[in-house]
Amino acid sequence: MKPVVALVGRPNVGKSTLFNRLTQTRDAIVADFAGLTRDRHYGNGRLGKREFIVIDTGGFEPDAGSGIYKEMAKQTRQAVAEADVVIFVVDAREGLSAQDHDIANELRRIGKPCVLVANKAEGMHDGTKLVDFYELGLGEVHGVSAAHGQGMRGLVELALAPLNLPDPDDEEEEDDVNKPIKLAVAGRPNVGKSTLINTWLGEERLVAFDMPGTTRDAISVPFERNGQRFELIDTAGLRRKGRVFEAIEKFSVVKTLQAIESANVVLLLLDATQGVTDQDAHIAGYILESGRAVVIAINKWDAVDSYQREQIQRQIETRLAFLKFAALHFISAIKRQGLGPVWQAIAQAHKSATRKMSTPVLTRLLLEAVQFQAPKRSGMFRPKLRYAHQGGMNPPVIVIHGNSLEHVTDAYKRFLEGRFRKEFDLVGTPLRIEFKSSH
Ligand code: GDP
Ligand code: GDP
Repeated sequence: MKPVVALVGRPNVGKSTLFNRLTQTRDAIVADFAGLTRDRHYGNGRLGKREFIVIDTGGFEPDAGSGIYKEMAKQTRQAVAEADVVIFVVDAREGLSAQDHDIANELRRIGKPCVLVANKAEGMHDGTKLVDFYELGLGEVHGVSAAHGQGMRGLVELALAPLNLPDPDDEEEEDDVNKPIKLAVAGRPNVGKSTLINTWLGEERLVAFDMPGTTRDAISVPFERNGQRFELIDTAGLRRKGRVFEAIEKFSVVKTLQAIESANVVLLLLDATQGVTDQDAHIAGYILESGRAVVIAINKWDAVDSYQREQIQRQIETRLAFLKFAALHFISAIKRQGLGPVWQAIAQAHKSATRKMSTPVLTRLLLEAVQFQAPKRSGMFRPKLRYAHQGGMNPPVIVIHGNSLEHVTDAYKRFLEGRFRKEFDLVGTPLRIEFKSSH
């Protein structure tokens, strides 16, 4: 599971700016998907190979009495509770404030590992202004500048150090053969996640194994279906009680993100009686951003009439347009209808996501596509596409090499994506195409 870092501090110290800095690499990837709604408070950060989840909190005022401030304080406390590490941001220019003291007291009381950073410290070489912050009793203060991107690397290293995480370089990939498919069922409360999982685990063809020593909440449930091994990731909002899953009241974005990130395939469950809500769209956005394979299932199909069915199909086409590569299935977890095709779709999505594509075949397909339709000239430049190789799996990444590739249009990129998808029969997985120009 990815570590979780929460940004805490009073308003205006630069938390959002810092959040954007820490998460920007991934943002660039999803920027061009129309219809993608994102919750700006959660993002994926990356430092080299190390990935982490960042939570931005609103301004934190521990003594906030009422209204929006009280709500913000509540949200912040929840974020801190869910985090592994807190980055406490103060303002190097304004100096120490009474509010900073209140927040420091609160953080000390909670007792999570905490890193103190003074933002807006660009151009402050002598550090004299930072000395005051030692009064907070949280140890060393680190000057950074989120706006100028100064000190970001050191900050992340410092924040993650107390967690003693294994070196990401040491995490060897298991052999694909016979590796279980890690499956996460994601969806907001009440869409039917626990009903579906219990229906699955109760099916006779599906052999669930109880892991030794897991009397409390299981982290994952291994099982087998038609000879394929699966591992059901501890799904957000569910608790395992003996052999059945139970919904728990509180929905946790962090748990959802962690489940999605640890999965190979995510089953996004929607509720036909409710249509596509904002929360559904948020979760769908996280799935897209994660690059995981995805299957969409609309549950409670038994409870809607033909008019509602048409309506929800239209809603999915518009609101979840950015997941149009995913297979769509209509099911009833209660009546056990439509479940077989969902399993097939999950297997197909996994196969697509882990498809191996050789350089000669990719290059041949690329050159055939160019012959069929060459990229347009842009001013003085005509992009020249030379060869392609696979740059990753789950999601598959195709890296195209050549010259002037920064002038390839989005339309042409989509054209290439369509050709590759068709040739490799890629369904249910995002496909990323990257360009590398030699000059
Ligand atoms: P938040 O309320 O804590 O999320 O703060 P914001 O990220 O919205 O930033 C508040 C203000 O501080 C904005 O005007 C930012 O442009 C500015 N700011 C953020 N980071 C820096 C920095 O590193 N240096 C300077 N000089 N200004 C910054
Ligand atoms: P979770 O919060 O996502 O785990 O949702 P639950 O599995 O607890 O289901 C929420 C409610 O929806 C319960 O009352 C279920 O009985 C109901 N439900 C689940 N699946 C179906 C279905 O296929 N059809 C209908 N009509 N109701 C369902």
